[in-house]
Amino acid sequence: MPDQLSTPRITIVAVYDIDITGWNAVFPALHSSQPVPQIEPRAQSNATIVLQTTYFNSGKPGTNRAGGKIIRMQGFIFDLMETHDYENIFFCQEKTLGLKAIIAIHDTTLGPAAGGVRMWPYETEADAINDVLRLARSMTYKCAAAGLSYGGGKCVVFGDPKRDKTEAKLRALGRFVHRLNGLFITGIDVGTNIDDMLVMRMETPYVVTVPEAWGGSGDTSQATAFGVVQGMRACLKELYGSADLQGRTVALQGVGAVGKHVLQYLVEAGAIVTLADIDPQRAERVATEYSAHIARPEEIHRLPVDIYCPCALGNVLNEQTLPELRCKIVCGSANNQLGEQRHGDLLQELGILYAPDYIVNAGGLLTGLDTLNPGGFNRQRAMEKVSHLYDAMESVIAISKDQKIPTYHAADVLAEQRIASIRQVKSLATGKEWR
Ligand code: NAD
Repeated sequence: MPDQLSTPRITIVAVYDIDITGWNAVFPALHSSQPVPQIEPRAQSNATIVLQTTYFNSGKPGTNRAGGKIIRMQGFIFDLMETHDYENIFFCQEKTLGLKAIIAIHDTTLGPAAGGVRMWPYETEADAINDVLRLARSMTYKCAAAGLSYGGGKCVVFGDPKRDKTEAKLRALGRFVHRLNGLFITGIDVGTNIDDMLVMRMETPYVVTVPEAWGGSGDTSQATAFGVVQGMRACLKELYGSADLQGRTVALQGVGAVGKHVLQYLVEAGAIVTLADIDPQRAERVATEYSAHIARPEEIHRLPVDIYCPCALGNVLNEQTLPELRCKIVCGSANNQLGEQRHGDLLQELGILYAPDYIVNAGGLLTGLDTLNPGGFNRQRAMEKVSHLYDAMESVIAISKDQKIPTYHAADVLAEQRIASIRQVKSLATGKEWR
């Protein structure tokens, strides 16, 4: 993804008509804003403050605890929205239940916005807004590159998922999603699970990751694993002229929900796998079941293998790990593998072929959204779509070679090209929209 949204900080450019009591109360709330504002304490009561925000680091932007009001604030939310062309942000509150949630819609050129519900104990509203915007935009790219007719959205809920989740809150959230009338389709993400989706489903049909018995796709980790293996095959074809996994060596980091299925596919295809997991019992159990070798978690990325497959954590390709890599390909399910974009550039310089995470881990998303196709969820059709992640990875490699850019950048180009071409299609009126 091109540059992430930075943490904002407030800059006050002018203050008008503010009584000094009000101002004294406002200033601590805004922390040490720079430059020092000019104060004209003319009026005795209501504060009128013009703020121009390039950044913003206060938990409560614009709070005036003395009762004065900030009636004009330039460039906080709309500045953020303009940065990457966001369409909507919906703020949802149900006071008695203590529900506070934000739904961001990034781009609906390809179709309704899809994205999960993340529950997290955000420290500030700014943190939550930044997160929902960043995540919604990444969904636009993921959907576009995967060939889906959906755009990007996301929902974040304030709270600790272990303590603050209640049926009432989830149902209230379901009703807010329903109000959007299909503009936003949602599912699980960090801090929510399939049971939570079933509760939201009581209030809205626009929730897709529910059990198969309820017409949903159920657990999508196998589909995610299948997509990762398709990405590996496309990379092997590029490097060795054959997509065959037989005899190829793989270092697998993490054998949880996705990693375990990746292992099964690899072993069935004849690959030689060494695995590591921070849960030693799990590593032992899975390795025995599939006759795989075990490595220590801190050494798995250093093994001399054809493919390093991160299926545990993000930020595994960083300053410290890159010089230690001895693989030819990096291809795994973990989100946000690159510590920073420049690490993607460095991988290319090292001659390592990197399969961008959001390209190869889209199998779960493709499967979840299959629920909304005519006739409801169909596993065979869903897996057939996931198999096309091989083609997506091939396209990324082709763009990377053509334009002489790293693969992480080529993935963004692939997504942006598709959105741009469909925007042209949408300029034709059809009388009545079909979907
Ligand atoms: P999981 O929690 O089921 O499995 C993660 C495994 O990694 C666990 O067994 C854990 O013990 C292990 N682990 C954690 N830190 C480790 C370390 N430092 N070294 C080795 N092992 C370590 O999660 P999952 O659902 O399998 O997802 C794995 C990754 O794939 C995550 O980054 C997730 O965001 C991403 N992803 C998952 C899906 C999906 O369908 N589940 C879809 C897209 C992306």
